[in-house]
Amino acid sequence: MKRAVYPGSFDPITNGHLDIIERAAKVFDEVIVAVLVNPDKKGLFDINERVMLIKKCVSKFNNIRVEGFSGLLINFMKQTESSVIVKGLRAVSDFEYEFQMALMNNKLDPNIETVFMMTNAKYSYLSSSSVKQVAQFGGCIKDLVPNDIIDDITKKINNMGEKGYGSYKITGVSPRDI
Ligand code: ADP
Repeated sequence: MKRAVYPGSFDPITNGHLDIIERAAKVFDEVIVAVLVNPDKKGLFDINERVMLIKKCVSKFNNIRVEGFSGLLINFMKQTESSVIVKGLRAVSDFEYEFQMALMNNKLDPNIETVFMMTNAKYSYLSSSSVKQVAQFGGCIKDLVPNDIIDDITKKINNMGEKGYGSYKITGVSPRDI
């Protein structure tokens, strides 16, 4: 059985992510969406909420699992007996980072292969950060995230009220996928 892992922050899942997940599920026997716990980055949603939101969006597929993980991706691959990492590529700007990660992961475990899927042109501009910015300032996030989770995002942002995101960082690169 060919099992692939699609790792990321998914804070929250967007239509760009979902498109990659659904395409990967056609190519591999099973896809595990692996939600990274990053202690340095305070997100909008905590890890359990992110997992729950993704589960809501993929419940109709029987070959997609959703799990949280922390630590080295390579260890998670071993634990789950997965051999392929799936990543989405949006623009040239994604390339350098992803190229480095893929080589590092391959160095750590030469049996692991990283497969890149090109973004769907419809979603090439989309990121979790931009969705959060739009939602925070009251913009419409329909078409950006799956319909099933629009209310969850709106409620979460409304509940944050004056506090905003607190220490949430909009930008910043972390060694999340090594
Ligand atoms: P984001 O950059 O939106 O915060 P993540 O860190 O959760 O996303 O990214 C997880 C994976 O999904 C990465 O491989 C990333 O390149 C990919 N990805 C994110 N958004 C898109 C998109 N709109 N189209 C294709 N792939 C995407």
